Amino acid sequence: MFGVYAPGEDVGKMTYFALHALQHRGQESAGIAVADGHTLTVTKQLGLVAQAFKAHDLASFEGHIAIGHTRYSTTGSSTSWENAQPMISAVGHNTIALAHNGNLVNTAELRDELKGNGVRFRSTTDSEVLASLVDHFTPEHHSMRAGIRETMKLVRGAYSTVLMSEQALYAFRDPYGIRPLVLGKLDDTGWVVASETCALDLVGAEYVRDVAPGEIVKLSAEGLEAEQAVPPQRASLCIFEFIYFARPDSVLYDCTLYEARQRMGAAIARSAPVEADIVIGVPDSGVPAATGYAQESGIPYGEGLAKNRYVGRTFISPSQTLRQQGIRLKLNPLKHVIGGKRLVVVDDSIVRGNTTRKLVQLLREAGAAEVHMRITSPPVRWPCFYGIDTDSQEQLIASYKSVDEIAAFIGADSLAYLSVEDMVASTGAVAERFCAACFTGEYPVEIPDSVREGKMHLEACGAREDG
Ligand code: SF4
Repeated sequence: MFGVYAPGEDVGKMTYFALHALQHRGQESAGIAVADGHTLTVTKQLGLVAQAFKAHDLASFEGHIAIGHTRYSTTGSSTSWENAQPMISAVGHNTIALAHNGNLVNTAELRDELKGNGVRFRSTTDSEVLASLVDHFTPEHHSMRAGIRETMKLVRGAYSTVLMSEQALYAFRDPYGIRPLVLGKLDDTGWVVASETCALDLVGAEYVRDVAPGEIVKLSAEGLEAEQAVPPQRASLCIFEFIYFARPDSVLYDCTLYEARQRMGAAIARSAPVEADIVIGVPDSGVPAATGYAQESGIPYGEGLAKNRYVGRTFISPSQTLRQQGIRLKLNPLKHVIGGKRLVVVDDSIVRGNTTRKLVQLLREAGAAEVHMRITSPPVRWPCFYGIDTDSQEQLIASYKSVDEIAAFIGADSLAYLSVEDMVASTGAVAERFCAACFTGEYPVEIPDSVREGKMHLEACGAREDG
């Protein structure tokens, strides 16, 4: 997700390039909205950024404000054009476009309420609920910022959001700060906001600060105006951003994710050593961790897996069938590197177990003598409700199998996970600044029972409540 306010710059093209830097955050659809002070237009398509925009689209972008989005669905169908973002809607005499990263947990309740007030929905996403609430409150308060503020008082869950009218760009973030959102400056010409710092680097913007949890930042002809719209809660940045989701060259909590991942690899080398001939990483996020493991253990690092860069990330493909195809398409073992060797294979996580099982099989078929899996996160036992599609708990292998049983299922000679403590220590920040609910079951934002029951074992709900 990206936003720019920069008179004199080609903001449409800038957003297009920034979305390339953020492509890893979503691959199902891409969209850009541009405004010139009077008119706001949106172009969006299913598919990757490079497929979604044609040369004539780029040439047609005119204006000084833009937002862009790459979508990865956690609510709503992934194949519907209507669900692609930015969402566009009318607010009084204005038009707004909104792009949202995260997941609301009280969407159903709010939708019912809004439908009762005569609001009609075109999509099935929580992002449209956000837009509808802003539409609802803005005329009443005669101010878009007030409309956003009132919306933030009602919605619960994770939302890092960019919203634009014909005249201004707004960025706002949930009071827990679950998804990242950073603010950057473009020399003297303007401002940008982005999900990750790697997008600032690409457009030549300098990182200024994070958009604070519970804050609204408005960027317009009046410059930057910021307000604490709702009180900040316990900081709960998603720790999965460190482990897997964000790009290694992005910075979160003053820490480059490449370094954090290296430290995770080094930590598991200390906690779960093994005799082996070579350490390999599963591209992409396992690679820095594997170099950390190799340095710490003294076992040489090798490139044992070639990755096809033009296939989407398996974890975020929308269906199991696509995931299975994705695994086959994505990785190919380098037989001359791994043949006859005892391997330490470093990966970031095991979610459902099928990807890792297939990987171990591929490595054995390529001649590996032993396969020792080292995972730089703790077992994923709890579903995410805040924007990472870990699906329901019954699909999470660690929620119903022990570590030994998982090792047997995936066919590894040994398997070890990083501890919660080592994971947090590797980030350089303290546990109190993170959401780590998929490992601990401690959800920072309360999940309504109706939402929780759809994704959790009932006995597990009880277990959590019993502590
Ligand atoms: S539950 Fe897990 S994936 Fe979801 S926000 Fe928390 S740490 Fe991130």
